[in-house]
Amino acid sequence: MKTCTTIAHYRALYREVKSSGQRRIGFVPTMGALHEGHLSLARALKHHCDLRVCSIFVNPTQFNDPKDYQAYVINLQNDQRLLEQEGVDILFAPDVSEIYPRGFQTTVKVSHLSAPLEGALRPGHFEGVATVCAILFSIIGPDCAIFGEKDFQQLRLIEQLVSDLKLPVEIVRGALIRDTDGLALSSRNSRLSVKGREHALLISRGLFAAAEAFQAGERDAFCLEQIVRASIAQMSNPEIDYVTVVDEESLAPVSTLVGRCRLLVVARVDGVRLLDNLAFAEA
Ligand code: AMP
Repeated sequence: MKTCTTIAHYRALYREVKSSGQRRIGFVPTMGALHEGHLSLARALKHHCDLRVCSIFVNPTQFNDPKDYQAYVINLQNDQRLLEQEGVDILFAPDVSEIYPRGFQTTVKVSHLSAPLEGALRPGHFEGVATVCAILFSIIGPDCAIFGEKDFQQLRLIEQLVSDLKLPVEIVRGALIRDTDGLALSSRNSRLSVKGREHALLISRGLFAAAEAFQAGERDAFCLEQIVRASIAQMSNPEIDYVTVVDEESLAPVSTLVGRCRLLVVARVDGVRLLDNLAFAEA
């Protein structure tokens, strides 16, 4: 695997790759602290391209809380080793000044999809995400890029961004990966205490119970949301940011499940925000 930290170095590699015979480039952007969720995306990418590029960049502009940014610790050497083992071809790991040099002043905003849910609770977060993804697409020049369903609103936002700006990149959806006990994998899980992790499991258990109710015929969004809320309420100090069933396309809340819907949940355990979600699919 080749690692580059500058745009100039990456572009030189890109020219080399393209001149050696028009290869299809696949891209996985990450913020490091890699786990099986990220690696599953790098693996899935194999089916869509010839050359795999991953980026590791902890993007300061998407952290609305400076403390969260400071607490976001990554181990670049360990991440490099994991990507190498996966057979990734190129790692792009720039410094903040390479992406946002002095005088930087452009922002990309996907208006409707960035307004509710995470957007409402984390002002500026999605402008940061959309802007850095537009920059990374422009640097990497991928033919396809894969984003995890774990961050479902982010995934929808990127799909919209690419469609609106007519960017020549195909966005592929990567399945949400869970630990064996059901907890959605997240770089933030390492901040949970042993007790906190037990509490965190109530989130996915609630989602699985809602899935069972859906399979049994329940189509009322409020009832399905209540199942998740009731599970989370078993925590000693439950802190729910939202539990809501939305239309997958518009992310607007629904009252009755028709078509493609998704239950999105965010709860805080040990002060750590945990995101999870579940797609409702007709059997
Ligand atoms: P992050 O490093 O958190 O910015 O995530 C980078 C990419 O990995 C995003 O597309 C995430 O949606 C994806 N991702 C993170 N956790 C998971 C997971 N548990 N399953 C699938 N994809 C994930």
